[in-house]
Amino acid sequence: MKKISVIVPMYYEEEVAMECYRRIKSVLIGLSNEFEHEIIFINDGSKDKTLDILKGIAIDDKLVKIISFSRNFGHQAAVTAGIKNCIGDVVIIIDADMQDPPELIVEMIDKWKQGYKIVYAKRKKRKGETPLKLITAKMFYKTLNSLSNVEIPKDTGDFRLVDKEVIEVIKELPEHNKFLRGLFSWVGYSQTPIEYERKERYAGKTKYPLRKMLKLAADGIIGFSTKPLRMVGVLGIFSILVSIIILIYSLLSYAFKWNNLTAGWTSIMITVTFFAGVQLMSLWIMSEYIARIYDESKARPEYIIEEKINFD
Ligand code: UDP
Ligand code: MG
Repeated sequence: MKKISVIVPMYYEEEVAMECYRRIKSVLIGLSNEFEHEIIFINDGSKDKTLDILKGIAIDDKLVKIISFSRNFGHQAAVTAGIKNCIGDVVIIIDADMQDPPELIVEMIDKWKQGYKIVYAKRKKRKGETPLKLITAKMFYKTLNSLSNVEIPKDTGDFRLVDKEVIEVIKELPEHNKFLRGLFSWVGYSQTPIEYERKERYAGKTKYPLRKMLKLAADGIIGFSTKPLRMVGVLGIFSILVSIIILIYSLLSYAFKWNNLTAGWTSIMITVTFFAGVQLMSLWIMSEYIARIYDESKARPEYIIEEKINFD
C-alpha cells in the first residue's frame, strides 16, 4: 500500500493542535482504503503546551510522530526537518492553524494520480488577513518574479502535495535559509495548482510577525536572484552621471559668472547625503548576500532536534 506523510510545523499552537490533529486524521482515515499514513508534527521550540498536547496524541496514535527542536529555528527549518524524516510516497505540507483546509488533500491526491509530481494550493481569497499583509504579499511576489529566473506562482504558500521523487531531490539540497516554495518551483517536474479559499485562523494569532516576513522575503529574493547585486552597478553609474552634470554646471557657472557658487550650501549637503545614501544602500545589498555566504560557510545545521517520538 502507498503511504501519505503529512508534515505540520507548530510554533505556539496549543490552541489549535488538537483540532488540527482531528481534522487531518479524519481526512486520512477517509483515504485509508488506499493509503497508509503518518503525521509528523514539528514543535519549532514552542514553550507553551503544544508539545505536551502532541505527546498526548502520540501515546494513543503511533502513526503520529513528533520532532521537537531545541529552540525556535523558523517555519522553513521545521518543514525541512519534516521532509528529511518522512517516508511517504506522497508528502503533504500544511500549516497547523487550519487556514489551509486538510479536506483539500483528497483533491490533491486525485491530481497526483493524474501524474502530477507537485500539486500546490493557490489562494483564491484570503480571509482574516490585514490589508497590510495583502498589499505587502502582492508587492513581494511582483518584485520576486521580476527579479528571479524561476517563475514562482503568486498567492501560493507552502500548502502542497509533493511526490517522493521530488522530496528526494529537495532532501539533498544543502542550502540554509531556505525559501521552500521557491525551491519547489526551481526543481521543475510537472506541477499543477488547485484553487481554494484561505480561511481564518482556527484560533490564536499569526506566528509570522513583520520581522519574520521580511526575513522570508529576503531569503526568497536573494536565494533566487543576483540582480540586486547588478542593480548596485546601475546605481553607481547613475551617481557618476549626476556628479558629471554637477561638475559641468559648476564649471560653466564659474566661467560665465552665472551665480555665486560659494552660496551653494544646500546643493553640497544634498549631493553629499544623497551619495552617502546610495553607497550605504549598495553596501547593504551586498551585505545581505555576504551574510548568507557566511551562513553557508559556517555549515551549522539548519536546526537541532532535541527529541523524536514514534520514529523507530
Ligand atoms: N511556524 C513555525 N515556526 C515559526 C513560525 C511559524 O513552525 O517560527 C508555523 C506555524 O505554527 C504555522 C505555520 O508555520 O503552522 C504558518 O504560520 P502562521 O499561520 O502563523 O503564518 P500566516 O498564516 O499568518 O502567514
Ligand atoms: Mg496561518
